[in-house]
Amino acid sequence: SFHKSKGQHILKNPLLVDSIVQKAGIKSTDVILEIGPGTGNLTKKLLEAGKSVIAVELDPRMVLELQRRFQGTPLSNRLKVIQGDVLKCDLPYFDICVANIPYQISSPLTFKLLAHRPLFRAAVIMFQREFAMRLVAQPGDTLYCRLSVNTQLLARVSHLLKVGKNNFRPPPKVDSSVVRIEPRKPLAPVNFKEWDGLVRICFNRKNKTIGSIFRQKSVLSLLEKNYRTLQALQLAENVPSEDMEMALDVSALGETFGDLSMDADDEKDDDEMEVDDGDAKRSEFKEKVLAVLKEGKFEDKRSSKLTQADFMHLLSLFNKAGIHFS
Ligand code: SAM
Repeated sequence: SFHKSKGQHILKNPLLVDSIVQKAGIKSTDVILEIGPGTGNLTKKLLEAGKSVIAVELDPRMVLELQRRFQGTPLSNRLKVIQGDVLKCDLPYFDICVANIPYQISSPLTFKLLAHRPLFRAAVIMFQREFAMRLVAQPGDTLYCRLSVNTQLLARVSHLLKVGKNNFRPPPKVDSSVVRIEPRKPLAPVNFKEWDGLVRICFNRKNKTIGSIFRQKSVLSLLEKNYRTLQALQLAENVPSEDMEMALDVSALGETFGDLSMDADDEKDDDEMEVDDGDAKRSEFKEKVLAVLKEGKFEDKRSSKLTQADFMHLLSLFNKAGIHFS
């Protein structure tokens, strides 16, 4: 009586559970956050490895089953079960997160964890294989996308373990992978909304050159609108431009990156691309944008090959020229 809609695929291979726990590198002093404990196969080994486990489970029947499983055992006083939706509840303090999650919450959960403070040491999470490969993808890899770039801005990500469908009951349709996510401390000093605004535009057509991406009518008019709004604001308030570049705003992180799914960077057909026609009013601004690309030698590069440092450099050149993405 498992619920497909809740992504209930129970880990049935005890050797695999052992291997996940071992690779997680749990310390005996760790407070462990588990998401979606289900019937508790992973929970039991986590309790044996760490100091305590806080498990968040949506399904009340699973919560009951879990409590029944540990009732009267010495493990039960180190387990706290929270019944609810992990995306909606306040997360407690934890040192490490280890979880076999329902795949439909992969992206919002990843960014909810990365926005959580104080920062934890690591999260070791089972994802759908393709999502996992996108998380860890490097410049030049086929799966390199907005999800890769945004996640890697905030964390180091590494692939730990390939997991076949038959390790689960019932088996899901897709293969899985366990990934290790370690939040970066300190974070790069960027405004996430600005960063994501830039990355979103670049990956909308990741195989086009940056030069052609920023010659599009839609892109230029969006940037020009931001530019004019900011100019008007600065004139009105007489704010020096450096002060407008907000420092890191972690609170906006979930909201900004939360909509990243595997197909968030759906690529459009080439023929849809509408290049700016050189409208006189817009041409001055267009020259400003192209000058930035030229300065950083970005014109002929492609998003699919740009590194974190490249995006950082491009963003700072744009911002220096007063061009903003949010
Ligand atoms: N951890 C168990 C295991 O490995 O055998 C079960 C994993 S199963 C893939 C996912 C579990 O997450 C299910 O027990 C499901 O009820 C629970 N779940 C689904 N959506 C959830 C949510 N939004 N918040 C918390 N738990 C959720």
